[in-house]
Amino acid sequence: MGNILEIKNLSMEFKKTGNIFKAVDGVDFELRKGEVLGIIGESGSGKSTIAKLITGLLKATEGQLFYRGQELLKLKGGERKVLNQHIQMVFQNAVGSFNPRMKIGKSIEEIIQLLGECSKDCLNKKVEDLLVDVGLKGEYADKYPHEISGGECQRAAIARAMAVNPQILICDEATSALDVSAQARIVDLLVHLKEEHGLSMLFITHDLPLVSSLTDRLIIMSKGKIVESGNTKEIIENPKSEYTKKLLEAVL
Ligand code: ADP
Ligand code: MG
Repeated sequence: MGNILEIKNLSMEFKKTGNIFKAVDGVDFELRKGEVLGIIGESGSGKSTIAKLITGLLKATEGQLFYRGQELLKLKGGERKVLNQHIQMVFQNAVGSFNPRMKIGKSIEEIIQLLGECSKDCLNKKVEDLLVDVGLKGEYADKYPHEISGGECQRAAIARAMAVNPQILICDEATSALDVSAQARIVDLLVHLKEEHGLSMLFITHDLPLVSSLTDRLIIMSKGKIVESGNTKEIIENPKSEYTKKLLEAVL
């Protein structure tokens, strides 16, 4: 399995009360094609900052990011825009990520249209296919974000992310706002999408017990650094650091 994403010596500094603070501090990892890699760590460990660096929302202080061998930081605006479609994000606050005055279907249509011209019939068909693929009925296209449950809205957000045929899906605490049974169903959906579409996935969470069935490998983060990494099964059965043991007990 080749690497679709390679991260080398990635660092991000912020100024905090006059001091320089490293939110991400010399992080190295790779995402292999077709795998789900979990990025796990307590709140403030630098997980979301890594996601923002990969998607270009933040510019790294130091380090390199390679997408299929291309160095992302060296790409010009237009090239970067094309690649941005290949890497999509799903956030914790699904409801807030939709325009409240726009029907779900219309929000998804807008994304499909980024790919090029599409007739009204073609748009309707694509929206319906995307909604069905995430386990929603086609008629959800006519609903507003506040008219559906949190779990359904997260499914709609995943459908919207899938609308541009991404290669990589980055889920940042995508299930954290949901109750336990809705969380498990979203995890099942992500497994289904990964297998159906050959997606590679970064699954970011503070909840290590949740991801044991979803992820192939794990990176455990603390204070901007990777403290442990490896196969999920091995880490869960034989965690090396005290920090990982605490995460496994979900006490952090
Ligand atoms: P996590 O997602 O693991 O909870 P974050 O990556 O969001 O952590 O944040 C890591 C650290 O960086 C935190 O201490 C946070 O306060 C700080 N941080 C994140 N974004 C900024 C920013 N734009 N400016 C200053 N500090 C930031
Ligand atoms: Mg975060």
